[in-house]
Amino acid sequence: MVNLLQFDRSALGDWCEQQGEQAFRATQLFRWIHQRGERDFAAMSNLAKSFRDKLVASAEVAGLAVASEQVAEDGTIKWLFDVGAGDAVETVFIPETGRGTLCISSQAGCAVNCRFCATGHQGFSRNLSTAEIVAQLWHAEFELRRRLGLRDGERAITNVVMMGMGEPLQNYANLVPALRTMLDDHGYGLSRRRVTVSTSGVVPMIDRLRDDCPVALAVSLHAPDDALRDELVPLNRKYPIAELLASARRYLERAPRDFITIEYCMLDGVNDAPAQAEALLALLRGDGTAANPGLPCKVNLIPFNPFAASGLKRSPAARVAAFAAVLQDGGIVTTIRRTRGDDIAAACGQLAGEVQDRTRVAERRARAVPVHVAPPVSRRRGGEAVAPGRRP
Ligand code: SAH
Ligand code: SF4
Repeated sequence: MVNLLQFDRSALGDWCEQQGEQAFRATQLFRWIHQRGERDFAAMSNLAKSFRDKLVASAEVAGLAVASEQVAEDGTIKWLFDVGAGDAVETVFIPETGRGTLCISSQAGCAVNCRFCATGHQGFSRNLSTAEIVAQLWHAEFELRRRLGLRDGERAITNVVMMGMGEPLQNYANLVPALRTMLDDHGYGLSRRRVTVSTSGVVPMIDRLRDDCPVALAVSLHAPDDALRDELVPLNRKYPIAELLASARRYLERAPRDFITIEYCMLDGVNDAPAQAEALLALLRGDGTAANPGLPCKVNLIPFNPFAASGLKRSPAARVAAFAAVLQDGGIVTTIRRTRGDDIAAACGQLAGEVQDRTRVAERRARAVPVHVAPPVSRRRGGEAVAPGRRP
């Protein structure tokens, strides 16, 4: 059985042709899956019966197994998906006025091993497949549409951030078809500016993404100099700051936005001193010389979300504010990230899932809040899916 969530539209076209079907059938099929959330081939009324029979025999639309779901007081929802062999990944929905953001995982665990990150502390287990990346969106979008009573064409999710577990640019081959499905007008139809890849700085892959599928880019910097960044983000030893910022500048030549988002996790006594804010400002603003050209960017300061094993503390609010003021006064737009879903540990860097530990997944499943699982979608509506619209 092939899981059709694995394919972007062009790959689905190739697969359909292999089945002896014309390529335009792939677009119809793609729309059923990604615009209607349909998984029952029998209900895909505009496809020929012979094709539907073939699909039933050889394909499936397989979502992920929900191990648990938690809803925070502020409406944030965190799903834990069991991806087999003791691995689980987390996906977070963050509702805001006029938009809904889904934070998606790209790997079970992460090999980069940043000092301040719960995912990094678990080590790396494996890459998620394209189907597993897309299935997070597919599940959340259609589950939310059903719960919110949205009509066809109304979207629950307007923004995607690849800021869950894992380093997306270390799973490049599976990431790109997933991004294409998110952007496809026959799929989720998300704007390139509303899909963000966040990276710890895999320089060659930043260049490839620029050429293959430019979306909004966030760079997790966390330090103004290489000595400190080497400690916090070990990948810096391979791709130091100057190379990283140079690749970010190249990215801007094709990016859908004219700035890069710089993420900076505020760690008490580590990277939050006024002198470090000045150094960051100098680095990002540059001085107009070839040696120090700066980077058009916005800075997002993330108050560190603590977890037991880190041995690190969150910077006090006053220090975060002072740090932000230095950057602002220097002319760099700076925001301080509001922590969401605090009561369910759904904030940045707290997504741990469970990796390679069957007993703990089993325990967690047993403890999990019962989830209302949607019945297999088999509503027959007929006709073409409606063009995607915006939420009111
Ligand atoms: N691997 C990618 C994307 C996933 S992490 C990356 O590193 O960019 C998403 C964001 O959460 C990154 O900016 C990361 O630095 C930040 N983060 C990780 N651990 C955190 C923590 N404990 N508190 C606050 N932010 C954290
Ligand atoms: Fe990996 Fe990102 Fe966590 Fe670093 S911050 S360990 S790159 S998920």
